[in-house]
Parts: sequence; structure tokens; C-alpha cells
Amino acid sequence: MTADYDLHTHTRFSDGKETVLQMAEAAIAKGLSTLGISDHAPVPWENDWCIDPARVLEEGEEIRRVGRLLSGRLTLLWGTELDMCSPQTDAPYDYRIGSTHELLMHGTHRSVDESEEAMLFTVREYFGGDYYAYAKTYFEALAQWAARDIDILGHVDILTKFNEGGKHFDENDPKYLRAAEDAIAAIAARGHIFEMNSGAVSRGYRKTTYPSMQVLRLIKKHGGRILLSSDAHAGAYITFLFNEMAEMAKACGFKSIMAPGAKGKPFIEKELV
Ligand SMILES: [Zn+2]
Ligand SMILES: [Zn+2]
Repeated sequence: MTADYDLHTHTRFSDGKETVLQMAEAAIAKGLSTLGISDHAPVPWENDWCIDPARVLEEGEEIRRVGRLLSGRLTLLWGTELDMCSPQTDAPYDYRIGSTHELLMHGTHRSVDESEEAMLFTVREYFGGDYYAYAKTYFEALAQWAARDIDILGHVDILTKFNEGGKHFDENDPKYLRAAEDAIAAIAARGHIFEMNSGAVSRGYRKTTYPSMQVLRLIKKHGGRILLSSDAHAGAYITFLFNEMAEMAKACGFKSIMAPGAKGKPFIEKELV
């Protein structure tokens, strides 16, 4: 197997479909040595996709309990997927993913990945229909993760979720790639690990994984490190398309990917074979 871990997964504590134990058993069935649960961290407004702030420590206890139950068969880690708007947290997570699902526009939150209609509205109302200005704002927000305490940068180019086949904008346009490159350079310099993420494919939104080949090449150019993630919301999708993503990484010149160490952090480098 290309990688015997998966650190980006969701359970019923946020918007996943299965319990911690079900996800862990699915990971064992797929031959993994390490599974990380990374439910959506709270954001400061009501929603149906983040963990209830009152249940964060309960989730940690449940992950530790299941981890003890499966000790010797699976290393179970407690992660979180923070949003740009998630408050700083002291919860003793094993690792943190930073993701940009929301843009703060003139005091209101605009979702990047909720629906195509929401994206069209944002681009029309806030950017006068200019997708490249939208992309620039998205990547400027993404670059802010360089200043925050995370380990993994989530789905670098999720703003392309509804742009399959270049439907709305050209992902090879120099304006787009320049905006992406500025953010990637800042994050690579900080040392955060970029993920390759198959979640939008498993959920039927896209035919290709994040990031695009062009963006992956920019990560390579700036010395960024990568790992593989499924963003699975059900056990069946753990490690989804890992072999295909590894082949993409190799095609972009990557010789290795990162993997969790025995206790999660520090992460270790593994040769891509
Ligand atoms: Zn996400
Ligand atoms: Zn996720």
C-alpha cells in the first residue's frame, strides 16, 4: 500500500456518517496502522457541519477509549479540522489541519465549498463576476495559515470544487497560478504539510483530486511536503484513490510523502515507491 495511514476523516461528531469505532474498524479492515479522526472544529456561528463546542472533550475521550480498545491493532489519533474562523483552541489534539471553507467578506462569512450557487453569488456580488479576483482573495486567506499553529494544510485549492473541466475559470491562467503560488510559497516556508485530498471525488463533486497537477507542481517548486488524505465521511472511503494520488505526486517529481510517526507527531518522511 502507498500509505498505511489516513489523517483526514470525519465521524458523527461533525458531518461524518459513522461512529469513531466504525471508522476505526474500517481502517483496520483496510490494513491501516494509523487512523486520525479530524472532525470540523467549532466556528462562531450556528451550523450543521461542525462539532458542538460542548462535545469536543467528549470526542477526545471517545477516541482515546476506542484507541485503547484497539491497541496493538491500530493507532488512533485525535485530530481536528480547523476553519479560518475557528477560534484558537487548547484541546490536546494530536495534530491539526487548517482548512479554508469560508471567506470573511465585509463582516459576513461566505462559504467556498457549500454549493455552486453560493459560489456564483459570492463571485457576482463581491467580485463583480471576476473569478481571478475571487481566487486572489481565497489564496490570500489561505496564506494566513502560515501564521497559525497547524500541522497540515487542508485541500489547498478547494475553491475549484465547482469548476470541474474549467467550467467557470481557467486554472492554468497566470493570474490564478500567481495567486496560488504566493500562498504556497508562504505556507511551504512555514513547513506546514500540504495534503492531497480525494474527498470531493468520493462525494461525487469532482472527477479529480485536490490539488490540481499545476498546483501540485507549485508545491514541489517551493519545497513543500505532502501527505495523502481521503477526507472520508464514511469508512468505505478511507484511503480512497491513495495509489492514484501517489502516482500524481511522482509525476510531479515528489520522491517521498510524509506520514505520522508512532505517536502521530513528529511526522516522518517515507519514500514513494
Ligand atoms: Zn474540509
Ligand atoms: Zn474534512
